[in-house]
Amino acid sequence: MSYRVLARKWRPLTFEDLVGQEHVTQTLVNSLLKERLHHAYLFTGTRGVGKTTVARILAKSLNCLLKITPKPCGKCEACLAIDEGRFVDLIEVDAASRTKVEQTRELLENVLYAPTNGRYKVYLIDEVHMLSTSSFNALLKTLEEPPDHVKFLLATTESSKIPVTVLSRCLQFNLKAISINDIQKQLIKISNEEGFDIGSSSLLPLAVAARGSMRDALSLLDQAISFSGGAVTDAVLNNMLGVIDKNNLLRMIKALAQGDGVELIKEVNLLDELSPDYFKTLDEFMVILQKIAVLQLIDSDQDDAVNELNDLAHVLSKEDVQLYYQIALNGLRDLSSCIDVRSGFEMTLLRMLAFRPAESNIDKNSELSLKKKLKSSTDKAIDSSEVSNKDESILSGLNASGMAKLLVDNSNIVSVSNEKIELIISDKNSHLSKPEVIKSLELSLKEKFKNSFRVIVSIGNTSQTNTDKKNEEDDKVNSAAKAAILSDPNIKAIEDEFDAIIESDSIKPN
Ligand SMILES: [Zn+2]
Repeated sequence: MSYRVLARKWRPLTFEDLVGQEHVTQTLVNSLLKERLHHAYLFTGTRGVGKTTVARILAKSLNCLLKITPKPCGKCEACLAIDEGRFVDLIEVDAASRTKVEQTRELLENVLYAPTNGRYKVYLIDEVHMLSTSSFNALLKTLEEPPDHVKFLLATTESSKIPVTVLSRCLQFNLKAISINDIQKQLIKISNEEGFDIGSSSLLPLAVAARGSMRDALSLLDQAISFSGGAVTDAVLNNMLGVIDKNNLLRMIKALAQGDGVELIKEVNLLDELSPDYFKTLDEFMVILQKIAVLQLIDSDQDDAVNELNDLAHVLSKEDVQLYYQIALNGLRDLSSCIDVRSGFEMTLLRMLAFRPAESNIDKNSELSLKKKLKSSTDKAIDSSEVSNKDESILSGLNASGMAKLLVDNSNIVSVSNEKIELIISDKNSHLSKPEVIKSLELSLKEKFKNSFRVIVSIGNTSQTNTDKKNEEDDKVNSAAKAAILSDPNIKAIEDEFDAIIESDSIKPN
C-alpha cells in the first residue's frame, strides 16, 4: 500500500476529532440535534484550518443512512462514500477552476433534480470568492429559492470578496487559526500513534512554523520524519525549518539601538553560519519589532522572555521602531529579487543603521548641547594638549574589560605619579567617569602593578585616543561602505517616506 501523507491520513472524520474549532462544531452539533437546518453555510478562515473538513463532516451528518446526526456512523454506504470522496450527491467544486458563469449555470441546472442516493444533495464550493460577478448572481438566484433537498456549503479564505447579497443568505462560521498549543498536542498524539521516534522533542518548532494551520503542521511533520532519518530532535527541527535563534535577532536590534555597526555585522555573520532562511529571519525580525512597538504602548512587565524586549522598548524611540519595521518590510519585498539573499538581508539592516527619523535626531542633538552647557558651567575644562609627564605605556596591556576598557581607549593620560593616574575624557564619553568604572580600572591596575593607584577622571578636550587611532584606520574601509549605502536606490525612497536623514557615521563595512 502506498504511503498516505499525514494530513490526509489524519483528516478528522467526526466533529469530535476536529481540533481548535469548538465554537463552530458546537453550533453545528446543536442544530443537527434539533434538525434546525439552514440551506446555506459559509465557512471562512485561513488555509489549513479545516473549512472543507467541517463541510465534509456536515455532509456526512446530513446524509448518514441511519439518520440526521452530529455523530455520523462512519460505516454506512453514504458515510464511507463521502469519506472516500465518491458520494454522488456530494458535489465538490473548486471555484478557482470554475469561475465562468456558464460553468456555474451548468452546475446549478442540476439543483432541481432530487438526490440520487442521499437525503440531501450537497454542493461544496471551495474558494467561493473566486466566482465571477455573474456567477455569483446565478448562485444568488438559487440561494433565494433553493429546493428543500439541496444544501450549499461554501468555503473561502476571503469572505470580504463575497457579495453581501450572498453573505446574507448564508449561515456564517469563522474558523480560527489553530493555537500553537493545540497543534503541538495533536502533533505529539499523532507521532505517538504512528510510532515516530520523537525522543524528548517538544515538536514546538513545527507547531510554531505551521502558523495556525493543522494541514501545514502535518506536512511539516512528514518532512521532519524523512529529514531526520531517525530520532527527531528540536535541533533537527530548527535546522530543517531554518529557525533562527531569537537571541541573535535581539542582539541585532540592540546593536541597532546603540548604532553599533561592527556588532551588527558580527551578529549577521553568526547568523549566516546557520544558513538560515533569510525571508523567515526578516519576517521574525519584524515580529520582534512589532512586539517592541506594543510594549512601548502598554509598558507591561511580564516574564523573563519579555524582559529583554522591555529593555529594547525603552532604549529605542517609537519612531525608530516604526522606521525599522518599514525598512524591514521593504527589504522583505526586495529580497526576492536579490541573487545573494544574505547581502540583501545585511543591506536591509545597514539601511536601518543608516537612517534615523529626523525628529529624533533633533531631540538628541538638543539634549546633547544642553548637557554640554551644563557641563561647561560646572567643570573646569582641562586641555589635554597641556599635558606633560605622559606615560602611555602604563595603560597598555592592561587586563581591563567592558566599560573600563572603553575608559582606557577613549581617554588621554594627564599625569602619572606613584599613587595617582589622572585621565581626561571628552564630554560625549562622560558616562565613563562613573565611580564603578573607575573602581574597575583601579582593580586592573592593581592586578598588573601589584600597587594601588588612584584614578582621577576629568572631562575636557582630548587629543588622539586609542579609539581615534582605530577609527582613523577604519575610515578608509568605511568610506567604501558609505559609498555603497549612499548610492543605494532604496535610500532616497526611505528618506522621502520618513523625512529621514542618513547618519553616515553609523555605516560600517562588513
Ligand atoms: Zn452513516
